[in-house]
Amino acid sequence: MNTQLKRHKLTLYNTLTRKKEIFEPADPNRVTMYVCGPTVYNHAHIGNARPAVVFDVLARVLRRLYPHVVYARNITDIEDKIIAAAKAQGVDISVVTEKYADIYRNDMGALGVLAPDLEPKATDSVAEMISMMERLIEAGHAYAADGHVLFNVPSYPGYGRLSGRDRDEMVAGARVEVAPYKKDPADFVLWKPSAPDQPGWDSPWGRGRPGWHIECSAMIEKHLGQTIDIHGGGIDLQFPHHENEVAQSACSHHGAPLARFWLHNGFVNIESEKMSKSIGNVLLVHDLISQAPGEAIRLALLAGHYRQPLDWTAEGLAQAKRMLDRLYGALRNLADVRSEPTNDAAPDAFVDALLDDLNTPKALSELFAIAKRANTETDPGTKALLKAELIGAGRLIGILEMDPEAWFAGGGTASHIDGDEIERLIAARNAARKEKNFAEADRIRDELAAMGVQIEDGPQGTSWRVAS
Ligand SMILES: [Zn+2]
Repeated sequence: MNTQLKRHKLTLYNTLTRKKEIFEPADPNRVTMYVCGPTVYNHAHIGNARPAVVFDVLARVLRRLYPHVVYARNITDIEDKIIAAAKAQGVDISVVTEKYADIYRNDMGALGVLAPDLEPKATDSVAEMISMMERLIEAGHAYAADGHVLFNVPSYPGYGRLSGRDRDEMVAGARVEVAPYKKDPADFVLWKPSAPDQPGWDSPWGRGRPGWHIECSAMIEKHLGQTIDIHGGGIDLQFPHHENEVAQSACSHHGAPLARFWLHNGFVNIESEKMSKSIGNVLLVHDLISQAPGEAIRLALLAGHYRQPLDWTAEGLAQAKRMLDRLYGALRNLADVRSEPTNDAAPDAFVDALLDDLNTPKALSELFAIAKRANTETDPGTKALLKAELIGAGRLIGILEMDPEAWFAGGGTASHIDGDEIERLIAARNAARKEKNFAEADRIRDELAAMGVQIEDGPQGTSWRVAS
C-alpha cells in the first residue's frame, strides 16, 4: 500500500445504504470495480463521458491505495439499436460495433481516460449469460415463455432497494411492455427470440439474443467474481438497469450481493437544459475534442462534484481551459527547478479532498493554492517541493501530464487532437508498415508523439490516446 495514502481513509457515498462509508475492499490484494460501458452504435456524448472520467479518477486513486486493482468497463455490442443501425447500413453488427468501440476508446483517450484493465464484450459472454439464466430458472427466479426468458420480479423481495422505489413506481418507471407471456407486469426480459435476419445464438429456449441487463451480471461473474467491491455508472442506470443487475446476480449466487459499494454520477445538462435529441443540444465528445483540448473537457467534467448534476456550458469549458493555462503557467515558471515528482508527492489537503468521496472541486481549489504559492515562492527547496506537489496531484486526477511548453505551444489547443487528422496519420503509418517502410512508419509515430498522442498497436488495430 502506498505509504502516504495509507494514513488516510477513502470514504465513498454508497447508493445502497444512502450514506458515506469508509471503503475497505473485501481483498486488499485484489480490488474489483465494474462500470457499465457504452452501447456502441453511435458517438458518445458528454453525458456518456462523465462516468468514464469520474471512474477513471477513482481507478487512479484506488491504484495508489492498493497494489492490485481490477477495473472492468464493458462494451455492449449486441442491442436492438445496434441491430437497427447495422440493418440500415446493410452491414454485419460487428462492423458497427467495432467502429464505434474504437471511436469511443479514442474519444475517451483524448480526455485522458486510461484504458480499463478489462473491457469485456457482451457477445463474448453469451455462454455465461445462458448459464446464469439456467441457474435462475432452476432456482425459481426466472421462467421461459414464448421463446423468451423472463426474470420474475416478485421472486426477489430485495427488488427496489437500490433505487428506493416502490412497486408501482418501478412498473411505471421501467415503461415495461405489457406482454401476454409475462407472469407479472414488472418482470423483465433476460433473453428474447431472434428472427432469421437478426443476430442470434442457440440456446435451450431457441435461437435468440440476450437482453441488456443480464450481460453485466454475467460478465461481472465471469471476470471479477460473485461480489465486487465497487459498481459504478450514471444515475440514469440506477433503475431499472442496476436494480435488475442486483436481482439477477443475487438470485444466481444464493443471495450473495453483487457489489458492496454502488456509486452513481449525476446527470449532465447543457446550458441549464436537459440534453435531448428533440432540443438538438446533444454534445458529442468527438466534436468537442476538435474544439477544445481534451484536458480542458476533462477538467470541466471534474469541476463539479460527481454526484451533483453538472451544467455543461461553453463558459465552463472556456474557464477550464483558463484554469489549465494558470496551472501550466505555474509549472512553466518552475521549468528550471529540479524536482523528482513521485506518486507520493500530492499534498495531504489535496489527497484528503479526493478521499472524501472524490471531492474534486475541493481538490482543485487545493491545487490552485499550490500554484499560487509556487508563483511567489523564492526559496529553491520550497519551489522544488511545490513543483513535485503540482505534478503529483495532477497525475492523481489525470491532468498536467503535458510539458508546459507543449501546452502553450499549441498542445493545449484543440488542433493537436483533431481526431480525423490523427486517424489519417495512423492509416498512413499502417500503410507504411504494410509496405515495410519502417522509417516512414517511425517518422509518423514520432510526429504523433510530438503532438502529444501515444499510439498502441493491438489485435483490434491501432488505438491512440493523449500521452500521459
Ligand atoms: Zn450494467
